[in-house]
Amino acid sequence: MVQYKAPHREYEFILKEVLGIEQILGKYPEYKEASWDMIEMISEQFGKINEEYWLTSNKEGDEIGAVFKDGNVTVPKRMKEATEMVIDSGLTQLFGHQKYGGMEFPNVLSVLSDEMSCSTNMALGVYMGLTKGAYHCIHNYGSEEIKSTYLPKFISGEWFGTMCLTEAHCGTDLGLIRTSANPENDFYSLNGQKIFISCGEHDLADNIIHLVLAKLPDAPKGVKGISLFLVPKYIVNDDGTLGERNGVNCVSIEEKMGVHGSATCVMSFENAKGYLIGEENEGLAAMFSMMNTERIAVGLQGLGQAEIAYQNGLAYAKDRIQGRDLKEPRNPDEEADPLIVHPDVRRMLMRSKSLIDSCRMLACWTALYIDKYEKDPDEKVKKESNDLVELMTPIIKALLTDYGVEITSDMLQIYGGHGYIKEYGMEQFYRDVRIAPIWEGTNGIQALDLAGRKMPQNMGRLLRRFFHPALDFIEANKDDKDMKEFVVPFSKALKGLQKTTLFMAQKGLSNPYEIGAAATDYLRQFGLVAMGYMWLLMLEVAFSKREKNDYYENKIILARFFYERILPETLSRAITISSGSKTMMSLPDDGFDSIHKFTGEA
Ligand SMILES: Cc1cc2nc3c(=O)[nH]c(=O)nc-3n(C[C@H](O)[C@H](O)[C@H](O)COP(=O)(O)OP(=O)(O)OC[C@H]3O[C@@H](n4cnc5c(N)ncnc54)[C@H](O)[C@@H]3O)c2cc1C
Repeated sequence: MVQYKAPHREYEFILKEVLGIEQILGKYPEYKEASWDMIEMISEQFGKINEEYWLTSNKEGDEIGAVFKDGNVTVPKRMKEATEMVIDSGLTQLFGHQKYGGMEFPNVLSVLSDEMSCSTNMALGVYMGLTKGAYHCIHNYGSEEIKSTYLPKFISGEWFGTMCLTEAHCGTDLGLIRTSANPENDFYSLNGQKIFISCGEHDLADNIIHLVLAKLPDAPKGVKGISLFLVPKYIVNDDGTLGERNGVNCVSIEEKMGVHGSATCVMSFENAKGYLIGEENEGLAAMFSMMNTERIAVGLQGLGQAEIAYQNGLAYAKDRIQGRDLKEPRNPDEEADPLIVHPDVRRMLMRSKSLIDSCRMLACWTALYIDKYEKDPDEKVKKESNDLVELMTPIIKALLTDYGVEITSDMLQIYGGHGYIKEYGMEQFYRDVRIAPIWEGTNGIQALDLAGRKMPQNMGRLLRRFFHPALDFIEANKDDKDMKEFVVPFSKALKGLQKTTLFMAQKGLSNPYEIGAAATDYLRQFGLVAMGYMWLLMLEVAFSKREKNDYYENKIILARFFYERILPETLSRAITISSGSKTMMSLPDDGFDSIHKFTGEA
């Protein structure tokens, strides 16, 4: 039986003790309600709903899954109940703007709620996450009329959202899309077919609002000719009530490896009424405002699944007895010792825990800059905060989801053969999280976004938003007797990253293959250094309170593990990158083939 407890203490440590969000956010009038007591109360409420309802609906969601019949999709009963619990408790109102009926709570709290939902039922989290993403996109780019019609319904939990980009012949390369949009009187008529549309059809909401990429008749070729349209399942009447059914239908749903409770739909648009969001031919920028929120949310899918897998891996390692401690028996009266005594099992547990802690910190730290960007009155602060979020978004998406896969795999491994058996629940985490490195732009594309776009942008302006505070931190702490142990290797890792960056920037100028070949390693190297920095911020607090209780001392041990056994990977990544693209690109395409005809040559 899978177990889960919401990690409240970890969030208290990060949000309250390390980031001091109450002091930082309390100065923004919109957030004056968000006192720590209030945040704690909400966090507990979220945790309870997740532990009691979302977790218990996860198995049914996996085994029954979303069911397609006659154009309709039904979601398992327990998943519906779990959704209703969130809506009835008013938690969908938290992140909406007050103007549209929301409570306007800080983005940094989304990290907490998204992580918990994705731990307990990732498939269900997709419905909610897409709705939040659609909200942001419409809020940023919709007309006031559209905003006042649709946003309050998202906030109340009555209507849900989707994003419709992918077509059969066009996934990563969105410039190829064929769905067309023809202007009519005060709307556009959309025709085409989209595939792989998460939550495209279901019975959790009264209306489903699709955000669809399509092309106008005379649009320029490629990504410069893409526009974004809002296409509701039911047309909304002037008085806000639901009118006739629109020409958008679910044709079928996919059978897939995981997240069975989330319907993955083929959607057909036949003269579907759509309303333009943003400007004609500038749809991709508008859609990206949704995708950036979604990318951080997808990173949290990786974190959430890693956390629940870790909690169960740990419990199993303490419970299962097998073999003896290499030095002396821990349980001399028993037949064997628990798994947790074995160094190799501890390796997997400590690696997972130190990664989870630093990934969570990275997500919260970045989300705090989203809040600064949105609420700070100072244009300079806004701009710099946005730069940092832009830089960190691909890192959070790819790093947290890759680690999500690695950690769920390691925790399954701790169960041995039992991990592979359905009954224990570990294999579901591994299957469910596997989509996270693929959707919202594959992790390879995230790496290209970082290395090819964000790195060189404005002569490295975005990079400076990370490098400068990290260098300042080193300067301020390099002589501290406790911190020195960590600051010295961090300083070397940061210098290494700067060196790799320079190398890639120089090489990339003359040969674009250099960026393409290095991107994934570069993202990992950057991510590791960023996690190293996150550990420094946590260590400052841990050292100052280490006398108080073991919690802080244990954090120092986890940080030491990270520094000794995880951060050194930056070296191998740097060496890999420095080998360049030549060998990778020199094998001819048919040189990859393993099936060759016999030539007769000896
Ligand atoms: C369960 C599920 C749910 C989904 N939900 C949605 C949804 O709600 N809405 C939606 O619009 N889409 C959705 N998708 C689609 C998903 O976003 C795409 O599958 C993904 O973007 C990749 O596109 P593709 O599958 O066509 O792969 P391709 O684009 O064919 O890519 C295949 C491989 O080649 C690599 N590659 C491609 N181009 C490049 C390049 N230029 N440089 C380097 N590497 C490259 C990719 O990284 C990938 O590894 C979903 C998919 C699944 C499986």
